[in-house]
Amino acid sequence: GIGVLSDLKKLSVIGRGNGGTVYKVSHKQTSVIYALKVVRFLEDMGSAMREAEILQRVDSSEYVVRCVGVFDGGVGDLCFLMEYMDVGSLHDILCKKKRLSEQAISGIARSVLRGLQYLHGLEVIHGDIKPSNLLVNTRGEVKIADFGASWLVSSTCGDRSVDACKGTCAYMSPERMDPERWDVGRRCDGAAAGDVWSLGVVVMECYVGHFPLVGPGEKIDWVTLMCAICFGENVEMSAVKMASPEFESFCGRCLERDWRKRGSVEELLLHPFLHKFDMTSTNNGVEDLV
Ligand code: ATP
Ligand code: MG
Repeated sequence: GIGVLSDLKKLSVIGRGNGGTVYKVSHKQTSVIYALKVVRFLEDMGSAMREAEILQRVDSSEYVVRCVGVFDGGVGDLCFLMEYMDVGSLHDILCKKKRLSEQAISGIARSVLRGLQYLHGLEVIHGDIKPSNLLVNTRGEVKIADFGASWLVSSTCGDRSVDACKGTCAYMSPERMDPERWDVGRRCDGAAAGDVWSLGVVVMECYVGHFPLVGPGEKIDWVTLMCAICFGENVEMSAVKMASPEFESFCGRCLERDWRKRGSVEELLLHPFLHKFDMTSTNNGVEDLV
């Protein structure tokens, strides 16, 4: 394994977010490339510790970015060494390609759902499914990353210290937007359903080529967003009118406003949209991403 931070050579910055800075690094002895996420431990100890705990728990799925080590970075930093996803995030891909084919979206949805099935099985709620947290490599694999807004349902039930509003509001489910229902949004079934909603927004964004809950070019402020998520007149559904019936139905099951009626991960894994394309091709149907 990799013992110390000084075994690594920083090559470039590949991402900067609320949580920290991500570097492309190379392991000096083996020349293997990794991603190194550095988070400011001293700024928010609770959340850095939670991210570390969760990353170490979720270490054996091909649909979740693997963490190979956690280091003390000195000067109040905590470092997570991860497998390097060489194509970048789905956000980067959408910036370049604008829209994706239904076949590519089907492959993405399948990978994310399998990742969510794995995470939820370990009582981990991701809490921040969005294009910049879904990473792709040249093998065409799509993996879930960034546990900076995640939590464990078992230790969280009834614990008000977990901020339900962490994560990116644009992809957040209606029940998480509503302070009166935060308990639902954080607890087991309700929380898992929140990740499904976010996936619905992501797949629709891949199809229409822009954030789908408001019109193209419309300014996205907090009020517009809140209204679109909680009371939107099905902006989303008109956006996918031209899509296949299977895709339209898949989006509808993810974006069901009442979380009790929303499709579960298990249900969606059996949805016809995930099974209408020939997935025997080498890249799981996502080759046109890379
Ligand atoms: P944000 O606050 O924007 O969600 P963050 O600070 O929590 O971000 P991450 O989402 O973990 O940080 O990473 C930020 C970006 O760095 C990602 O969107 C991605 O572009 C890049 N990145 C992160 N991890 C990897 C990785 N393992 N391989 C390749 N790129 C990565
Ligand atoms: Mg992120």
